[in-house]
Amino acid sequence: RAGRFDRQIMVDYPSYSGRLEILKVHARNKRIDDSVDIETIARRTPGFAGADLANLLNEAAILTARRQKEAITELEITDAIDRVTIGMSMKPMLDSVKKRLIAYHEVGHSIVRTLLKDADPLDKVTIIPRSGGVGGFSASLPSEEMGLESRAAILALITVLLGGRAAEEVVFGDDEITTGASGDIERVAKLARLMVTQLGMSSLGLVALESQNNEVFLGRDFIPRSEYSEKVSSLIDEQVRNIVNQCHANAK
Ligand code: ZN
Repeated sequence: RAGRFDRQIMVDYPSYSGRLEILKVHARNKRIDDSVDIETIARRTPGFAGADLANLLNEAAILTARRQKEAITELEITDAIDRVTIGMSMKPMLDSVKKRLIAYHEVGHSIVRTLLKDADPLDKVTIIPRSGGVGGFSASLPSEEMGLESRAAILALITVLLGGRAAEEVVFGDDEITTGASGDIERVAKLARLMVTQLGMSSLGLVALESQNNEVFLGRDFIPRSEYSEKVSSLIDEQVRNIVNQCHANAK
């Protein structure tokens, strides 16, 4: 009855075995080719909720019908995963300066990802544009263990994110770099700042300088951000800059 049940229960994203069972349920009423391995799909979809998995198989079925195939194959599954996670693929770009630039940018991410041992391995790189304004992308397989990353892994991720811009600089020169890296740079700034202010992963050492809700920790108490000294703030900025500069040089 309303008002009697006040406990909130968090339902987390399904694990591998959960996803496998959910996929089996939604696969029941679809014609799926024998070559398709449901276990592989379950492995490729960490972070998918039940509804996302249902959506994935529906998209795959729609693609199968459109391609006039008898049953869903691996190809439709792969395309449907991209569609659900990144957006619909559009017509390839015509040859142009822009296309060359995007190609080098994505290859930059991919090479750095491939060469760094602490980065998640490359799964796919493409310059087929997607709905929603994405010109291309370079992606790793999503990993199962979310939320526990080593310092080396975070640095590797920052370096991979800077790999796109680094490639633009190397190939086209400093004057020709583009706005294409703005999303990357935003993520880099967030990650580097997180390392310094919350994870104790810089040479400022083991201090959490900011709590989750953006207050600042100085020794004993949290104080609002506006009250912490300019000195601390410039120390943080310096550490963030060091991390970003080092990763950028490494990417290059
Ligand atoms: Zn990029």
